[in-house]
Amino acid sequence: MDEFTFIRSIQQPSYRQSSLQKGIGDDAAVFRETQRDIVTAVDTFVEGIHFTKKTIPPKYIGYRALAANLSDIAAMGATPTFYLASAVIPTSWHGFIKDIFQGMRQLANRYHMDLIGGDTVSGDRLMITIHVIGTIDRGKAIYRNNAQEGDIVFVTGTLGDSRAGLYLLKEKSSTVRSTYLTRRHQKPSPRVSFAQKLTSLDRITLNDISDGIASEAKEIALASQQNIVLDVDLIPISEDFKQFPVKWQNEWKLFGGEDFELLGAVSRNSWYKVKQFGKETNTKVSKVGYILHTEHTNKYGRVYLQTDQGFKEIEKYGYIHLS
Ligand code: ADP
Ligand code: MG
Repeated sequence: MDEFTFIRSIQQPSYRQSSLQKGIGDDAAVFRETQRDIVTAVDTFVEGIHFTKKTIPPKYIGYRALAANLSDIAAMGATPTFYLASAVIPTSWHGFIKDIFQGMRQLANRYHMDLIGGDTVSGDRLMITIHVIGTIDRGKAIYRNNAQEGDIVFVTGTLGDSRAGLYLLKEKSSTVRSTYLTRRHQKPSPRVSFAQKLTSLDRITLNDISDGIASEAKEIALASQQNIVLDVDLIPISEDFKQFPVKWQNEWKLFGGEDFELLGAVSRNSWYKVKQFGKETNTKVSKVGYILHTEHTNKYGRVYLQTDQGFKEIEKYGYIHLS
């Protein structure tokens, strides 16, 4: 299959978004928005760094790549509309590329998104770069710099599952068996509909958890010029996750990446609404800490863990590329 046959094969027979003027087939796509703000993000998914043939089957590779992007759109409270996909494809992957795009489309369909362009080139390792576009009511995008003293810090879902799933995919000899955990690694659920509801709140802070809660909490603390306290025992974990040694659990729930859950902060007054939005969208929401007052110190951007032995500042955070 050559490049052109491939592009024809992934082209949608029709588009769903009414703002689209021109999709695949010209030099660039065109869409028209006059009322709403446009939210956009790009994410790259690289063989050998983010996945291997062993850890994620082709049908989930595209799904997973788009899910990471959708998680960024969710963290802004936006509604996804379009995506563009650039693929670097080695010869050894030719037979799988259709499955990869089908998985992507499966997730895109759920959100009525249209694939409106991309790029296809040969290369020596598989790389999928997805550029996602969404919209939101003017001025309603949710930023990470809004947290204030006394806010409740919360997360969606359960944490550490993806990291545990990755472990199981790599360590075939493990005595723990859990399709739930491996699926959480391969097919994460971006929290789009829950986050959309949060845009109705007066003040809300949000970040998606791609690098582990410790690292994302640090980002919120720095951006908001606050400090955050996380209670390790309040961090929600799944039943299957509890099969691992407690030491691993503690490491993975704090630093394990790629759960694509959301970490947020809201005022105490708004907390009941957040819980209600969780119920309405079937999203588990848990309080995990609070924003600490910065009284007596001008220091901010710190994350403290509350344990049986008291407060402890976190020194190392999640996975850092280029380090
Ligand atoms: P150009 O040479 O103008 O960049 P291409 O031949 O690369 O055009 O692409 C032709 C059309 O197919 C364009 O609309 C482009 O956006 C789309 N396209 C190419 N590769 C992909 C891909 N992997 N996914 C989606 N659309 C693609
Ligand atoms: Mg091109």
